[in-house]
Amino acid sequence: MMRMTVLASGSKGNSTLIASSRTRILVDAGLSCRELCKRIRSTGEDPEAIDALLITHEHQDHVSGLEVLARKLNIPVYFTRPTHAAWVRWMTPRPRTSYAEWLAARAAASPFPEGGADSEAPETGDEARPEAKEICQLPAIEYFTSGNSFSIGDIDIRPFTIPHDAADPVGFVFEAEGIRMAIATDLGYLPPNVKMAFQGCNVLMIESNHDLEMLRDGPYPWSLKQRVMSRVGHLSNQAAADFLGNGYDGNASHVVLAHLSEKNNLPELARVTAESALRERMSLLSSTIVLAEQDRASEAICY
Ligand SMILES: [Zn+2]
Ligand SMILES: [Zn+2]
Repeated sequence: MMRMTVLASGSKGNSTLIASSRTRILVDAGLSCRELCKRIRSTGEDPEAIDALLITHEHQDHVSGLEVLARKLNIPVYFTRPTHAAWVRWMTPRPRTSYAEWLAARAAASPFPEGGADSEAPETGDEARPEAKEICQLPAIEYFTSGNSFSIGDIDIRPFTIPHDAADPVGFVFEAEGIRMAIATDLGYLPPNVKMAFQGCNVLMIESNHDLEMLRDGPYPWSLKQRVMSRVGHLSNQAAADFLGNGYDGNASHVVLAHLSEKNNLPELARVTAESALRERMSLLSSTIVLAEQDRASEAICY
């Protein structure tokens, strides 16, 4: 028996609980620690029972509660190395630099320093700053790499690369007791490796971010519209439905539509687009469409 519980989904915060009978993993912590714990309790789960935190990528809507939650629950955080480094950079306050200091630093960093060839290069990396280490202290950090499986308790985890404008973004396939669940949100399109990862899953969480026309006519500035629509942006309702209509194996009991935009989408539009794609393939109608919500935890999906 496995459970997937979406605690929050959307540009204001993302977090999903994946549980087997023995292990509980939180995927992303994009709400405050307090709100996350409240939502975990609202689903009948105990925050203290969570074994680990897994991070998909360093965008704020996926990590804003990371540090406080990991410390409070005293749990390890699993990152890829580039994602961890990007998170540390994001957490570290920029040092205040006067123009004169900046000029001096630039001169010192020049390949032809006035002090001669053996003058020491200044340390400019963010991790060299003492504050970074103090601020970003976590109970334990575990690194994983995309494409290489690892386990937490009795859950096997296969991270896979997704196309998104972050340092090293991933989706995950979770497997325990012969049951498989997959998560991929925040991706510009569905490349073959993601479609492969979605094969044979019993529960599928896929992004259905925007309706293309609502995005085009909507309030976003042009540059942001371009970003969302790009190959490293977010998946549209139509793109998610295209996959459900072609390529999807129909294996999942539940397909969770996630990361819906509040400005450029409507839950019913996302649902109708996905359901009509499934209806064209009558044999796949056994997959129930579930909409992940931003403001409250969804009911647990058990398989
Ligand atoms: Zn996101
Ligand atoms: Zn993102």
